Amino acid sequence: AGAIADGAAIGDVNLAQFERAQRVIPGGVNSPVRAFRSVGGTPRFMVSARGPYITDAQGREYVDLVASWGPAILGHAHPAVVEAVQRTAANGLSFGASTPAETELAEAVLARLPFLEKLRLVSTGTEATMTAIRLARGFTGRPLLIKFAGHYHGHSDSLLAEAGSGLATLSLPGSAGVTEATAAQTLVLPYNDLDAVRAAFEQNGPDIAAVITEAAAANMGVVPPDEGFNAALADIAHEFGALLILDEVLTGFRVSEAGYWGLDRGYTPDLVTFGKVVGGGMPLAALGGRAELMDYLAPTGPVYQAGTLSGNPLAVAAGLTTLQLADEAVYDRLDVVAETVSSAVSNALSAEGVAHRVQRAGNLFSFVFGDFAAAPRTYAEVQTQEAFRYRALFHAMLDAGVSLPPSVFEAWFVTAAHDDAAVSRILEALPAAARAAAA
Ligand code: PLP
Repeated sequence: AGAIADGAAIGDVNLAQFERAQRVIPGGVNSPVRAFRSVGGTPRFMVSARGPYITDAQGREYVDLVASWGPAILGHAHPAVVEAVQRTAANGLSFGASTPAETELAEAVLARLPFLEKLRLVSTGTEATMTAIRLARGFTGRPLLIKFAGHYHGHSDSLLAEAGSGLATLSLPGSAGVTEATAAQTLVLPYNDLDAVRAAFEQNGPDIAAVITEAAAANMGVVPPDEGFNAALADIAHEFGALLILDEVLTGFRVSEAGYWGLDRGYTPDLVTFGKVVGGGMPLAALGGRAELMDYLAPTGPVYQAGTLSGNPLAVAAGLTTLQLADEAVYDRLDVVAETVSSAVSNALSAEGVAHRVQRAGNLFSFVFGDFAAAPRTYAEVQTQEAFRYRALFHAMLDAGVSLPPSVFEAWFVTAAHDDAAVSRILEALPAAARAAAA
């Protein structure tokens, strides 16, 4: 009982679970970042979560700032969402046929981004971006894709490509198992660099099907787009007959009722991908666009896409209920909690002389450690930071009962259920954690 020395205590239930899992699951995890590789120590095996709290296999409760990596904007196990899922489950888990609720969910999403006319439901963000790219290639008849270094769009082959060099080089595979031929179809450019985008289009314009961008980058820590960057991407892509795919899997319905686009309006992407919040914590994601484009998907069009569990009734019930409950008061609370927590962390770090900057995109935030004269705007810049300071901060917070994302390159996720009691527990843990980060 009491404080648990990380992973070392005899009888540590999490350690026992991790050892057992590693015997039968690669690395003991079903998604790599869960393994704590970048912060070290033993991952916590979670058994329940409610509101702003999550409880591990040892029975220890943490204030949660991961929120299932984004979906839980209402807090964990919101009673209305759980009730909707239970009620739906009682009528059958999956039909492999259309349901009225799928149309309702599509209508709810489309109402929030008025330039979208049709929506296709899939099960993961990876499927949404993979389908968007296939659709862009099918629609334009062009092979190449532009993505930005440090942006994550899921793990389909064409998106696991890294930059060979700064500018418009044909890229090398970012994972074993991705062929060079596939990687060579993705041009990786530095983020927030419109000159690089323009140069790539001037060189390869007739072959570029689409540019894909996170609406605000949040998978290299938070790095917001420069003002007007997304709008300029739309302009340049359209000038050359290519499409803009706005990836709102992480930001969609989290940072505002209309995602990051809702904070940044004034331009029209061709395709938008959603995930996380849209499924309310269940496996559900989506892509949307204008009708002419979306009708290019099977069965009306020649671009094939399908899924046994697409539009799963339980996932639709969770997503629809979450969107219905995500009103102005929810977004106001998310903003207040994000502001309170990010300022408090920053103040605690400053009090200990830890050089850092707060990076914000709506209610998403993260910290870069080190002396940055200006906010970093690219992957190359955020990689120069003193990441070891985050490891110390992370473990001090975890020991004090606050669960942060286990990597400096992830956003922190607040929920509307983070009430004053939960926020106080975070604030109380900060002075000691900042001291640890200073060491
Ligand atoms: N796109 C973005 C911006 C993401 O953040 C993620 C996941 O974190 C994905 C796509 C992939 O989604 P999924 O993990 O559901 O496949």
